[in-house]
Amino acid sequence: MSTPRMPVLFVGHGSPMNAIEDNRWSQGFTKLGQLLPLPKAIVAVSAHWYVNGTYTTGNEKPETIHDFGGFPPELYEVQYPAKGDPQLAARVASLMGPRAQVSQEWGLDHGTWSVVKFLRPKADVPVIQLSIDARLPVADHLALGRALKPLRDEGVLVIGSGNVTHNLRHAFMSLRSGKIEQVPWATDFDADISKALTQHDAAFLAQAPTTENGRMSHPTLDHYLPLLYAAGAGEGDAVTFPITGFDLGSLSMRSVMFGA
Ligand code: ZN
Repeated sequence: MSTPRMPVLFVGHGSPMNAIEDNRWSQGFTKLGQLLPLPKAIVAVSAHWYVNGTYTTGNEKPETIHDFGGFPPELYEVQYPAKGDPQLAARVASLMGPRAQVSQEWGLDHGTWSVVKFLRPKADVPVIQLSIDARLPVADHLALGRALKPLRDEGVLVIGSGNVTHNLRHAFMSLRSGKIEQVPWATDFDADISKALTQHDAAFLAQAPTTENGRMSHPTLDHYLPLLYAAGAGEGDAVTFPITGFDLGSLSMRSVMFGA
């Protein structure tokens, strides 16, 4: 019997606080989890493992990494005790090419656990992470995403975790001033990306961050690139948006499902 092909997800994770708050976003993540078939394992590409190299987490028991500062103590107490999958880590590294390596230096960062804790609240599915090589051109990330495709027929759920728009300086300014309103560069970029995904326009996805709205939406590329891994792995599949909307006016919380 063949394993049914898994969908691919991109999730807008937003603030780490979503991990402990019962809000529109965390409720959305829970509902999203209910839409998913049971995966054998999860490969997460998180905005927060943005380094000089392509690595996978080879730990048997990945640590829950609290990679943020200045949040309430209860957020640091969150543990997500999913197992790792060293064999899958080696397989994913081999799919990523000769320079990719299995690493013991990372675990599950909040880009992964703040979302997966709602998708699989019992932590009953092994989770590994794949890093994002900050040195590569944008289109290369799309190609690496395409190389993840075969995993889908092996019951593996590929998740990109970032945000379609992510300008923290602007978000914090809005928070401090108490003036939270939508801004055109974020709404337009979010709409353009959504259209490109629906139309399978890979060329647009690869050059979008260099447009004017793209530069405002992504002063750095870490939160954009996870989308390209998901778009690569899900290429050709029908696209739906189980979560849409903005947090703090400019932070797109759009989630994308490729294949249903
Ligand atoms: Zn983040």
